[in-house]
Amino acid sequence: MDASEFRKRGKEVIDAIADYYEGLDQTPPLSTVDPGYLYKMMPREAPEDPESFDAIQTDIRTKIMPGMTHWQSGNFFAWFPCSSSYPGILGDLYSSMFNIVGFNWVCSPAATELETIVMDWLGKLIGLDKRFVAIKEDGTEGKGGGVIQGTASEAHIVVMIAAREMALERIKARGASDADAKALQSKLVAYFSDQTHSSGQKAANVIGCITRTVETGSDLRLTKPALQAAIAEDKAAGLIPFFVCGTYGTTNTTAIDDLPGIADVAEAEQIWNHVDAAYAGAALTCPEFRPLAAGSERADSFNFNAHKWMMTNFDCSALWVADSTHLINALSIHREYFPPTEGSTTFVKNYRDWQLPLGRRFRALKLWFVMRTYGASGIRAHIREHVRQAKWLEQQLLVDGRFDIVAPVVFGLVVFRIKPHIIAQNGDYSADRVNEANADLVAQINGDGRVFLVGTELKGTKVVRAAIGSSFGAQSNVELLLSVVQQCASKVIAGTE
Ligand SMILES: *Cc1c(COP(=O)(O)O)cnc(C)c1O
Repeated sequence: MDASEFRKRGKEVIDAIADYYEGLDQTPPLSTVDPGYLYKMMPREAPEDPESFDAIQTDIRTKIMPGMTHWQSGNFFAWFPCSSSYPGILGDLYSSMFNIVGFNWVCSPAATELETIVMDWLGKLIGLDKRFVAIKEDGTEGKGGGVIQGTASEAHIVVMIAAREMALERIKARGASDADAKALQSKLVAYFSDQTHSSGQKAANVIGCITRTVETGSDLRLTKPALQAAIAEDKAAGLIPFFVCGTYGTTNTTAIDDLPGIADVAEAEQIWNHVDAAYAGAALTCPEFRPLAAGSERADSFNFNAHKWMMTNFDCSALWVADSTHLINALSIHREYFPPTEGSTTFVKNYRDWQLPLGRRFRALKLWFVMRTYGASGIRAHIREHVRQAKWLEQQLLVDGRFDIVAPVVFGLVVFRIKPHIIAQNGDYSADRVNEANADLVAQINGDGRVFLVGTELKGTKVVRAAIGSSFGAQSNVELLLSVVQQCASKVIAGTE
């Protein structure tokens, strides 16, 4: 493909993308193909001779499209949103154009410096504490700073590595030798709640530490006394606490842990305090959500996915650390082919030392495009509209009378179920029966096909989750969701009578 063909095809693809987004409401959000569907349609080997772009584009329509689940659809309410936007796409196009591997400042000074700048912008936009900002008001460099990771899971691994480094340094500062400190690694314990995202456990598996799951109460929040009790018990058993994760907006229900209480414990025990705000962090662009994040200003690290609810195309997981020393010490490896940069070191961040891979894409561009195109006011309006829609849905479900709202609706997530006594009309009040009916409700809703959502389980209770957050969704999509839920609930209830 030469430049003139690229000009022609590129314009066609842009048109196809705009057509796709404009037509999303006409397509069922969930793909219904069977496993292996694509294998049956595909040749067994890559083509020997060049194929035309027309042929490839036809296959996008006929072979790929049927197997797509449409995350950008306004009728997609599953998991959490993964919101794209036109400026996000265009920023990513420029990233594809440069196609750099920006591991060191010198690899493309603009890529490194723009990332430092937009991460500071974003940190200020969500009201993060000054400790997390890279470049201070006087233009000098602080100890903290932000870095774009691929996902919150990677961020979790990276900060746990930094936490381990900090713990081993602490052990050595008390006089242990390198070897003794290393031997104690097997005693390190990371603390989560029973509501912490699975990425915490995965990170612990990767670094090979012990995990302790602290039980939450009926409000599904990790509390200070529960954390303190777990730590005291483990220390008595000779274990070494080194990491705790508090969550601002859990995946199941968007519960918010006792972040000030966790900070108290982390400071007293000198353990790394990570705040996972993967989904709800985007809401902090609106000042009214900041009181709920109190305590996070005392954390060692803070993470949220701009690709979830902030219109920045996947992948863009924003991670800040208050002090990058331990992170860089743990992940920096010198080789002759990484020459140091001469001159000032301010702005010379070598982001390879802040992440797992060496190579990295120019992801700051799309974030920059999004923040400039919408402005802070546009981003806040986007968040507030989804929260308004979520509260509207909550209200309608309550007015209907057949549903319980299972968790407070704070952000864009509504968690509900059919009330037990409605299911139990025929006298069967067992929890199993109620669970079965609510699982059936999820199956009926998705079987209907007009909307897509997922259920979850809260300490043995099956519930339905509806996450509102598509950049291309509107009130009308939530109205459709409500009517599908009501129709399917009627069927489920009729079936139990
Ligand atoms: C979505 C989510 C994650 C993980 O997201 P990835 O970026 O896909 O790894 C972690 N924590 C919470 C609270 C989440 O909602």
